[in-house]
Amino acid sequence: MSPTLIDTKLGRDYLGRHFLLSVPTNRKAVTLTFDDGPNPRNTPSLLKLLDRKRITAHFFLVGRHLARHGSIARETVAAGHEVGNHTYHHIPLTLLPSRVIRKELVETEKLLDEIAPGRMHTVRPPMGWFSQRVMNRFRDLDLIPVMGDVYPQDPGRPGVDTIVRRVRARIGPGSIVILHDGGWRDGVDRSQTIDAVDRLTDELGAEGYSFESLSALCDGGELE
Ligand SMILES: [Zn+2]
Repeated sequence: MSPTLIDTKLGRDYLGRHFLLSVPTNRKAVTLTFDDGPNPRNTPSLLKLLDRKRITAHFFLVGRHLARHGSIARETVAAGHEVGNHTYHHIPLTLLPSRVIRKELVETEKLLDEIAPGRMHTVRPPMGWFSQRVMNRFRDLDLIPVMGDVYPQDPGRPGVDTIVRRVRARIGPGSIVILHDGGWRDGVDRSQTIDAVDRLTDELGAEGYSFESLSALCDGGELE
């Protein structure tokens, strides 16, 4: 896999000045995040898995998908998961004029307000692309920019073993893991991600890890 910025210390130092990458804590607690849904093929089975394991996660939703699959998003929130803004059309924001960036965010916030009015207001930029201009738009709308410190590049479907191995190589107390339950098309196949989550939660759970919502992870932060 080609390394991303979060795979190097230099990259993490840079990103960490702009984004929440992880939460400082001694507790073996982490947050799983899922991008690009709601997705009719994958989200329902992922919700079933998380429910069976009593795990709470954070979903970064795409407005365009949310508008068409509102019932899946409502189920997600009803199950106790948190939802955040992943823009309306999932176009890299750096390519767009400021006015359109704002529209991408506001239109998605409106849909999120309908299903989760009291939420923690988070945003994750599509493809991780950002600039100072993009960060300023996040700040205008009081959105907390969240990236993560563990990314196994699951959209490339490298195999369940590889996804599990990549996550295990990076994860630690306070980690935020970037995963995908959706994609550009409704028919996208995220079964590898879901199978990897099944194994990771078993394996890491046996090692004492808990899987929390992002607000719980942040509330339980601070080194003891
Ligand atoms: Zn995305």
